[in-house]
Amino acid sequence: MRKSICFFSFFAFTVLSFYACQKDSPIADNLIETDETGYANVPSNMWSLFQRFEEEALERGYQIDLKTQEISAEISEISEEGVAGSCTYGSHDPGHIVIDQTFWNQASDLLKEMVIFHELGHCSLFRGHTEGSHPNGTCLSIMRSGLEDCNDNYRVSTRETYLDELFENADL
Ligand SMILES: [Zn+2]
Repeated sequence: MRKSICFFSFFAFTVLSFYACQKDSPIADNLIETDETGYANVPSNMWSLFQRFEEEALERGYQIDLKTQEISAEISEISEEGVAGSCTYGSHDPGHIVIDQTFWNQASDLLKEMVIFHELGHCSLFRGHTEGSHPNGTCLSIMRSGLEDCNDNYRVSTRETYLDELFENADL
C-alpha cells in the first residue's frame, strides 16, 4: 500500500475546519527522542493524549498499544496555511503525526484531542474518512474529510458519541 498523508487544517484555527489529503508526500524526519518510560519518538507533552486514546479504546473493548504500533509524532511549524496536523501512514510502516506548533500553543485540550484522535484514527485504527452530517448539520464523525459540508461539534457533551463512532468503525 502506498503511503498517504492527511492534513488537518482549520481556518484561523477556529472550529470550522478543512482537510486536504495527498498521496506520497514527503515525510518529516526530525523526530524527538524520549525516554523509555513514555512513547518513543513522541513529545512528552503529547503522551497524556496518546494514553487517553488507549484508555478510550479499552473502555470500548479494543486493546490498542500505540507503543507496539510504533507511532511517532512531533510538534513543529507546518508551513501550509492553517494546517493543524497531519498523519503519514501506510499498511506496512508505522504512522507519523505532525502537529503544528502554533496550533498546539493555542488550542484547548479538547481541540488537541480531536486533532490527535483524528490522526490516530488513520495511523492506529487504519480508518479512512467518513463523510455525512446529522439533520442539524453537525458531522457524523471526527473522521470527516472536511471536503464536504458538515460542522464540527466535538464538545464535552458530544465527545462520548464521537468516540463510540471512532472506535466502532476501526479497521483492525
Ligand atoms: Zn484525515
